[in-house]
Amino acid sequence: MLTPRPLIAGNWKMNGLSAALDEARALAGAVDKKAPAARVALCPPATLIHRMAETLAGSGVAVGGQDCRPEPGGAFTGCLSAEMLADAGASLVILGHSERRAYYAETDAEVAAKVEAALRAGLEPIVCVGETAAERAGGRTLEVVLGQVRGSLPDALAGVDFAVAYEPVWAIGSGQTPTSAQIEEVHLAIRQALAARFADMGARAPILYGGSVKADNAVEILALAEVGGALVGGASLTAAQFLPIVRAA
Ligand code: PEP
Repeated sequence: MLTPRPLIAGNWKMNGLSAALDEARALAGAVDKKAPAARVALCPPATLIHRMAETLAGSGVAVGGQDCRPEPGGAFTGCLSAEMLADAGASLVILGHSERRAYYAETDAEVAAKVEAALRAGLEPIVCVGETAAERAGGRTLEVVLGQVRGSLPDALAGVDFAVAYEPVWAIGSGQTPTSAQIEEVHLAIRQALAARFADMGARAPILYGGSVKADNAVEILALAEVGGALVGGASLTAAQFLPIVRAA
């Protein structure tokens, strides 16, 4: 069974106007197309997905969405379906990001329904899990993370490609990161849970680390046991900051 290449995905969140496509172009121009060590993806705001997919066509850099509704269509003002993301040129989608869980009260069950929608539309889901600072301080990290893994990943993932991103909420955008031992502890626990539930695909699904990954910590983090890539927020917004992370994989 082959170990998949690491996945380095950039989450632009609510950042990026048309001019930001220049950053995607610069990234694509610098990523090795012949033998890339990592899979690379950018997840821009929905307004840029179509143009970014056209800009990056044939470059080896994939485009992803940041969320979707579970339904294929309907009366959901302001929302997007997985089919719409795919139609616009996305091949992946981030689901269950802690900002969505916090600001929109997304539950594990809702995230699982979105994951099923992603699969229906042919998108590879990147499912985010992670504890808050209070949960870590209370010694509940593994309980919380494994609970999210259980509840947010539907049985439909058996036999398909997917990724999980471990993103401690307190590490996102804060400049703080867990210790290497803390990252490995959580990643190993997630791996065991995935392998027990999804057999071969669970044993090989990339488990990304996310939370203040930068050029200066990427090499160390990406070398840790069961770290199969990175989900990068702030440092994915410019090619100059993102490229060293891609090259660290
Ligand atoms: C994120 O929000 O997914 C993230 C990892 O952000 P940052 O890299 O900015 O901490």
